[in-house]
Amino acid sequence: NVRGSVNLANIDTFARSAHYPPCMKVLHSKLTDNHHLRHFGRLQYGLFIKGIGLNLEESMSFWKRKFAGKINGEKFDKEYAYNVRHSFGKEGKRTDYTPWSCSKIISQIPGSGEYHGCPFKYFKDETLSDFLTKKYDIQSRNLLEIMEKKREGAAQVACIKLWDATHKIDTKDNVGNHPNAYFSCSLQSAEE
Ligand code: SF4
Repeated sequence: NVRGSVNLANIDTFARSAHYPPCMKVLHSKLTDNHHLRHFGRLQYGLFIKGIGLNLEESMSFWKRKFAGKINGEKFDKEYAYNVRHSFGKEGKRTDYTPWSCSKIISQIPGSGEYHGCPFKYFKDETLSDFLTKKYDIQSRNLLEIMEKKREGAAQVACIKLWDATHKIDTKDNVGNHPNAYFSCSLQSAEE
């Protein structure tokens, strides 16, 4: 069971692993380094971690802990807790929001100091190639193929190629369409 297997104690390990798609790896590491993410980054990443199994209570603790290096608990409760509750449908219109799909993420245009969106779309070529080399164990032949797709503007195909290069099995329903599918198929592949 994928849901429930991720928790506060192991999410940092998951985020460093090849289970995480690039868009979420970037957000997790910026959040960890900067103790902060701007609004759309919190939204994109918050809904992803909700989708991989963190409940409201765990999500709240997660954000609070990550922000703690910069923002104290009182300020967090005042300025940030509402949005976490909101994404779980506990405030405002009470919509229980679902994690963003790739097409929604790819359509985002992150400004300076923002890290949401899809790295296959908005990273510069050298930055992406450097990032993939450091964060995923891929061979240069595969990297070249991924970069070729990225340059052609085919972000989702590039992402599928990364998945193929880092996983042994071919069962990958919806990988390239949804970051949560990327993660759950990856966990399944590790179990097989
Ligand atoms: Fe994330 Fe989708 Fe972009 Fe892959 S294609 S990095 S899963 S938004």
